Amino acid sequence: MYREKFDLTGSTAFITGGGRGMGLAAAEALSEHGARVIISDMDPLILDAGRNEMAAKGYVVETVLLDVTRPADVTRAADDVNRRFGPVNILVANAGIALPRSPGEDMPDDVWLKVIDVNLNGVFWCCRAFGKHMLAQGGGSIVTIGSMSGAISNKPQEQAQYNASKAGVHHLTKSLAGEWAARGVRVNSVAPGYINTVMSRGGFSNPDYFPVWMENTPMKRVGEADEIAAVVLFLASPASSFLTGSVILADGGYSVW
Ligand code: NDP
Repeated sequence: MYREKFDLTGSTAFITGGGRGMGLAAAEALSEHGARVIISDMDPLILDAGRNEMAAKGYVVETVLLDVTRPADVTRAADDVNRRFGPVNILVANAGIALPRSPGEDMPDDVWLKVIDVNLNGVFWCCRAFGKHMLAQGGGSIVTIGSMSGAISNKPQEQAQYNASKAGVHHLTKSLAGEWAARGVRVNSVAPGYINTVMSRGGFSNPDYFPVWMENTPMKRVGEADEIAAVVLFLASPASSFLTGSVILADGGYSVW
């Protein structure tokens, strides 16, 4: 019975920013559990590399080129993949960026706007477009990728733009969960701590950052993408059937202090 709760045979999943990092790890986790997976990304080279990496592991994934900051393109992609591949009942709204540190008092307009546009607006456009199909179909599971930065503010790097965007993702997740629960669509979020991907690796070699990050992480290590993908798998699957509006922190304990 409990194995079946993680069985995604017959499901179709769409993952944004799925060409590498945590998105690609989620693609592997969902594929391994039987889902048909479509990865999307804005860079064709990253997308191809992601597809090849999955093929080398024996998984066939479909690919869709998509910039999540373009709402009309997101709506078109949702309509298109639902038509081509059948009902998409899992969305992993994962695409996100973190621009270099920006002290609040000197924050350039474009840095603030870009991070909010990708991390918050992009997640909303995807939830709206794919959620509409799920509601029409009578069910689905949406997993947004938030961050521990939506619950705490990181130190020592100043990144109010990123922290605010992820707090927005968490509250968006709860808001849509409340709206859609009675119509069969669950919306949950994973909030990772520092994870070993392209996004954070620059900080691992920064002597001003990394020792502070580790001092504040009870487990004294960074996480790996597969440790987040496992949480995505749980939230996407019937194993989490009584969860909606939850934000699961997967941060090595960072947020306990
Ligand atoms: P990566 O940078 O490895 O992967 C993110 C992917 O998203 C990239 O392929 C990137 O493409 C793509 N992307 C960026 N902007 C867009 C866009 N507008 N439309 C579509 N795709 C886009 O990062 P991670 O795997 O680490 O990050 C995944 C998620 O996890 C993000 O939301 C991030 O904020 C979050 N997160 C990451 C943490 C970490 O420590 N790594 C910690 C907490 C949360 P491109 O390279 O072309 O920009």
